[in-house]
Amino acid sequence: MHKDISEILVSEKEIQIICDKLGKQITHDYKDKSPILVGLLKGCMPFMSDLSKKIELKVDIAYMSVSSYHGGISSSGDVKIKMDLDIPITNRNVIIVEDIVDTGNTIVTIVELLMHRGAKSVEIVTLLDKPEGRLKPYVPKYVGRTIPKEFVVGYGLDYDEYYRNLPYVGILNPKVYTKKES
Ligand code: 5GP
Repeated sequence: MHKDISEILVSEKEIQIICDKLGKQITHDYKDKSPILVGLLKGCMPFMSDLSKKIELKVDIAYMSVSSYHGGISSSGDVKIKMDLDIPITNRNVIIVEDIVDTGNTIVTIVELLMHRGAKSVEIVTLLDKPEGRLKPYVPKYVGRTIPKEFVVGYGLDYDEYYRNLPYVGILNPKVYTKKES
């Protein structure tokens, strides 16, 4: 385990079981459809890679880059689009691929935006959900694991752009950010 991680919350093995389960559900629910998977960069990267291999459908894969954190450990509430989609979504079934839903600010903003642009449907698949952090009511349709209100890193999730490459999701030792943010 990395020295800055105080506890592993979701192991590599569990992540693969989650991807398998969610992939099967999506394959079943979207039978005969051809959805677009929209990944929210950068956190979605490993999850998109593993999950998409478990979806047995004809899918498009596209990305948006959004940010609501500015290097710290709490959401600013101000969701900015840094890179937009490069394919049209009018009349398409969209599945947003997210690493974690916390306050709900990001997901509510993006769902509203994509519906406004004429998507036929918009659902969310998220590896992690922190419902205790919710400020905007939103219940994602596909959730890998519900976790407590802790700041986690790994498997795409960062602190200050580090730790994304850890193969598991773990709780970041608060000493790492209290040192930096005091
Ligand atoms: P929300 O808008 O729901 O508050 O948060 C969504 C985004 O905040 C996520 O895509 C992620 O980038 C970031 N985020 C929320 N909770 C955590 C966390 O525990 N760890 C990390 N690294 N990022 C988080």
